[in-house]
Amino acid sequence: MKYSSTRGNVSGKGFVETLLMGLADDGGLLIPEEIPVVSDATLDQWSGLSYEALFLEIFSLYINDEIPQDDLKELVANSYSRFRHPEITPLKPIHDQLYVLELFHGPTFAFKDVALQFLGELYSYVAKKYNETIHILGATSGDTGAAAIEGVRGKEGIRICILHPHQKVSLVQERQMTTVEDENVLNLSVKGNFDDCQGLIKELFADLSFKEKHHLRAVNSINFVRILAQSVYYFYAYLQIRAKTKAAKVNFSVPSGNFGNIFSGYLAKQMGLPINKLIIATNENNILEQFVRTGVYKSGEFKSTHSPSMDIQVASNFERYLYYLLDRDTAKVASYMKQFQSTGQIQIDEQLLAVVQSDFAAFGVKNDACLQAIGNYQFEYDYLLDPHTACGISSYESYTEQSGDDQTVCVAFATAHPAKFDEAIRLLDIKQELPVEIASLLTKEQHQVVIDNAKQEIVQQLEEFYGRE
Ligand SMILES: *Cc1c(COP(=O)(O)O)cnc(C)c1O
Repeated sequence: MKYSSTRGNVSGKGFVETLLMGLADDGGLLIPEEIPVVSDATLDQWSGLSYEALFLEIFSLYINDEIPQDDLKELVANSYSRFRHPEITPLKPIHDQLYVLELFHGPTFAFKDVALQFLGELYSYVAKKYNETIHILGATSGDTGAAAIEGVRGKEGIRICILHPHQKVSLVQERQMTTVEDENVLNLSVKGNFDDCQGLIKELFADLSFKEKHHLRAVNSINFVRILAQSVYYFYAYLQIRAKTKAAKVNFSVPSGNFGNIFSGYLAKQMGLPINKLIIATNENNILEQFVRTGVYKSGEFKSTHSPSMDIQVASNFERYLYYLLDRDTAKVASYMKQFQSTGQIQIDEQLLAVVQSDFAAFGVKNDACLQAIGNYQFEYDYLLDPHTACGISSYESYTEQSGDDQTVCVAFATAHPAKFDEAIRLLDIKQELPVEIASLLTKEQHQVVIDNAKQEIVQQLEEFYGRE
């Protein structure tokens, strides 16, 4: 298996090189040159495997023996040893047509742990085995930062710097990131929004001499390894539903921001997983909904919502999908992305739009509809949704209504534990007991540096942090 860039000027990279490169050196995103297809017979064989065993099967198709099987097995076992549930991502039935896949049983109570606990272990392994310096740099809307820090804190040979938008992440998110005592962690709180942070990071990664000099590594979902790790639970959920209900196909409803999680689903589908529709659930930052409805991809005005981890206007993984949509024509991808950079907009023709609409449905969920879903499901099913998950559930309902299909089973992802976003839950006068890991955060000391939204300030901080002996 080799990896190449969506923009055509990087190719033939191995798995470890792909991990380390993060953003491709030509500014594109790395993708496998060939997507391995899994037969129905293989799916049958995989049925009943544990989460860890399934993970090994899927990764074995992508890593070319660059990591010996025994080592990989140990990495996977370590990655999921800190999850609070033996099934890692348990599937909960809500009613006959709807299941919730709980992705929040990792250390930071959001789905990012599923991939980032593994990525942390893998970076640590590569640091030791290849004697690589690993300086992680990332931007977060809240959850990636916490999960990435939790994945690598205290690990030898690794330093991590995370940018988050100042006062635009939830209280728990901020505390999870900033109350960590380990010397290898730096939190920069940027006076701006998430897109500003992500833009700064992209700029730094695009500066190849800076990237090389400081050994910059990515944890954002531009990193293909993270995408692949997230595809595992699509298989895991589907196989359980197939065993239980004999369903031929399922839908997935995915709370979306950077198009990372949903792209993992698209990858799973390309690998042969029988997915009917991928439902993109966004909040009032609904650039993806607009795209699926009209074929115009255009960022709008940034809005703060109850689901801050989805307060994103520029979805960095969108380019990966564009690559497949444009039939792997890298020159076209590069030209579309250039156009987006200069005009802030991409438009596809009707023929392509029809393809998009066959893969996806998309709904931008308003703040009040989000809260309403939380209230309804608590009342009707005694199941408490976090606001991101609620956007997914609300989108599932809209999809059912719009398509008239109330037969196909839908798996809605619970991307965060409700305790993580208690600010929104409290608006409904619902009282929840906070898990001790979260409650105890509120009394710890915080470590962060507040800076202006200016590249120079960040460069200065990084020179000092990564240069430290
Ligand atoms: C990050 C995040 C999302 C969005 O995921 P993407 O991969 O960026 O689309 C949704 N919900 C929660 C709770 C998150 O942390």
